[in-house]
Amino acid sequence: MTSLLNADLHCHSVVSDGTLTPEALAARAKANGVELWALTDHDEIGGQQRAAAAARAVGLHYLTGVEISVTFIHQTVHIVGLGFDPEDPALQLGLIQTRGGRGQRAMEMADGLAKVGITGAFEGALKFAGNHELISRTHFARFLVDSGVCKDTQEVFRKYLIEGKPGYVAHRWASLKDAVTWITQAGGMAVIAHPARYKFSTNEEFALFTEFKGHGGQGVEVVTGSHTAAEYVTYAATAQEFGLLASRGSDFHSPTESHTELGTLPFLPGQLTPVWEALAHRIQLAPALKPALNSTLTPAVEPGAARSSAS
Ligand code: AMP
Ligand code: MN
Ligand code: MN
Ligand code: MN
Repeated sequence: MTSLLNADLHCHSVVSDGTLTPEALAARAKANGVELWALTDHDEIGGQQRAAAAARAVGLHYLTGVEISVTFIHQTVHIVGLGFDPEDPALQLGLIQTRGGRGQRAMEMADGLAKVGITGAFEGALKFAGNHELISRTHFARFLVDSGVCKDTQEVFRKYLIEGKPGYVAHRWASLKDAVTWITQAGGMAVIAHPARYKFSTNEEFALFTEFKGHGGQGVEVVTGSHTAAEYVTYAATAQEFGLLASRGSDFHSPTESHTELGTLPFLPGQLTPVWEALAHRIQLAPALKPALNSTLTPAVEPGAARSSAS
């Protein structure tokens, strides 16, 4: 029954590489029928207060969120954190460290692009970054579309920003163990984001899931904007095999760039246990909707009370 909740637990605002404010995202989620929402900016929780307040104002239940960049066997893996205490000092410090290398990396990316005749990319990308601490490849992509080099961001990634292309710079992010530990020690749940996106061998993927569980990770995204319908089936089986809870999220970034809208994905397959069942005590309930959700999600805390219940 509770797998039929319209939960969207993965999206991005201007605080990372989305184009909408937390407030605009909350309004859009509500308009699309989302019931439980989380803003999951990359390596950054600076938008959490605004998102929680906006959720409350429009009548959405809210879970704190983040998407941490991790390096695992030479690839970048994303770990979503849900329901943590945003005031947790170790989590905050870990995220500051993870963001730390982005400025230098961006300058090296611009140098690589300059070598193929694209000048001024650092300054250009920075103009598209709502948060200068969080300059990402997405901002370079927007600059290259805006300056007419490519027709859309997909083309920019294909030609310039993926491994082997002129604007790609290898980067070392957080370790899997650190990311999972920061989230869980802050009272939250760690979730492997969009597992089908990684290019791991079967053995490497097995290592990812096994080590993730070993560090205390509990969830995996099954229904996400990054997966095909066939991949929902594959990762539903993986969730069951590893005894992981299942999450659902659009990974919405922008009305013009994202192919999946907030709140429009299929529901989680019924045989899976949703992450929000185990996170019920971390959900900040929208006042007017309390009775409706309370019937399926108990116990619950008042908004703001999550902090004191963190351990
Ligand atoms: P970064 O964290 O700076 O490496 O940027 C990663 C972000 O780039 C992802 O979170 C996506 O938003 C975006 N991205 C990655 N690959 C692609 C792609 N092929 N097409 C469009 N956007 C992409
Ligand atoms: Mn992104
Ligand atoms: Mn991601
Ligand atoms: Mn994402």
